[in-house]
Amino acid sequence: MNLPKIKFAYFWNHLIVLCREPNAEQHLKEISNAYEVLSDDEKRSLNDKFGEAGLKGAGMGMGDFSNPFDLFESLFEGMGGMGGMGSMGSRASRSRAVDGQDEYYSLVINFKEAVFGVEKEIEITRLETCGTCNGSGAKPSTCSTCGGQGQVVSSARTPLGVFQQVMTCSSCGGTGKVSTSCNTCSGDGRVRRTKRISLKIPAGVDTESRLRVRGEGNAGRRGGSPGDLFVVIEVIPDPVLKRDGTNILYTCKVSYIDAILGTTIKVPTVDGMVDLKIPAGTQLNTTLVMAKKGVPVLNKSNMRGDQLVRVQVEIPKRLSSEERKLIEELADLSKGKTASRR
Ligand SMILES: [Zn+2]
Ligand SMILES: [Zn+2]
Repeated sequence: MNLPKIKFAYFWNHLIVLCREPNAEQHLKEISNAYEVLSDDEKRSLNDKFGEAGLKGAGMGMGDFSNPFDLFESLFEGMGGMGGMGSMGSRASRSRAVDGQDEYYSLVINFKEAVFGVEKEIEITRLETCGTCNGSGAKPSTCSTCGGQGQVVSSARTPLGVFQQVMTCSSCGGTGKVSTSCNTCSGDGRVRRTKRISLKIPAGVDTESRLRVRGEGNAGRRGGSPGDLFVVIEVIPDPVLKRDGTNILYTCKVSYIDAILGTTIKVPTVDGMVDLKIPAGTQLNTTLVMAKKGVPVLNKSNMRGDQLVRVQVEIPKRLSSEERKLIEELADLSKGKTASRR
């Protein structure tokens, strides 16, 4: 039997007293039985409070707790079952470490910030380990039943006299301490706190990109690891530049004359206004490539996409009389060419 040593000592005291009495053998049996029942009760009560680990802990198996924190936790949980923290969920679910949940933060950035990356300071609110109770959720105090001794003396009047028996205090399980919920965190072991975090948003992110900040999510419980923080990016679109992966799409308009003769126009890009040469004889809906004026490839910022410029050729709906005259001359010239070829 894994009984606490103190029990045997008191048992022997009783035994010595009893042996001096007549019918000692009979009484010895009664005491012995009573003791068995008592210790079974104690075992049961310990079992209820601490489970298998609690029995070992109360006896001699303190070393079975690989982590001293485990012991601390299970002891306080056991006490919680008695009173203060009794309403906090089932024993089974409370005995294991639980990892903290991930936290999500939606970050809105502008078009250029997404293209070139940006440093942002954000303020997040998440559960942190309570500093008052170090995450245990418990506020330990001296057991009022046993005055911190961990033992209580019970007296029983019998025909043989008054028996006194020292028992492990059932209020505190023999530790001399009881616990109530921590005032700061109301027993959860975690508190909601606001924290400012600096983020380096890499170049090339886009709407729905997610940045993971390891360990900055919600704190775990009972030694569980914290969750991660996921920053979900939302990019405000640019009114003229459209994003297509790492490429940027832009549409320009040139007159039919410029399309025929060729010209140079100013085109907005993420690097500012850039000259773009429209070659002579540019056809309708031609796409011109402005190499490396696009978006840097995420995590490969030396690689960049292109800006693709679609050329819309504008044909006038009205002509001045002078324009009309010139166009007609052009038409005659064109027909003459055609005729002379025949
Ligand atoms: Zn606390
Ligand atoms: Zn006590």
